[in-house]
Amino acid sequence: MSRRPGAPGRPAGRDAGGWRGPGRVLDDGVSQCIFCRIVVGDIPADVVASGQRVIAFRDLNPQAPTHVLVIPREHHENVGALASSDPDALTELVMIGVGIAEQESGGQFRLVFNTGVETGQSVFHVHGHVLGGRRMTWPPG
Ligand code: 5GP
Ligand code: ZN
Repeated sequence: MSRRPGAPGRPAGRDAGGWRGPGRVLDDGVSQCIFCRIVVGDIPADVVASGQRVIAFRDLNPQAPTHVLVIPREHHENVGALASSDPDALTELVMIGVGIAEQESGGQFRLVFNTGVETGQSVFHVHGHVLGGRRMTWPPG
């Protein structure tokens, strides 16, 4: 696999937590970000909704009867970065999440943006977890 210059033997931006780079394709035409790869159809996903700026697909390891990830088509590392650079995409993300919850869990849901390794973020392409369909406890663990 070819690499970006200056990152011999290791893709730029990669660390134990996952891809932190800008989500652009590498020289071999394949992004190292798993969610960017889902956006372009390179990795299959159970897509339940999509809009101009975002797509929504079911989490591979669901934690509730409804567990959908809503992501911007463009790569942004976390919700703060998305709010700064594309607030319209953040609004669309939230509204798609609301629509999924209306369809699947009576409009009751939790929308979670894990931000940083300490909170459990493992994929560094911002995603809102839409969780619903069961009673939930507070505070989260
Ligand atoms: P985080 O831990 O970053 O907040 O959430 C990442 C989520 O992405 C996890 O809930 C994990 O199950 C989900 N996930 C990781 N890889 C894939 C994948 O390839 N497909 C889907 N549908 N979900 C994934
Ligand atoms: Zn990405």
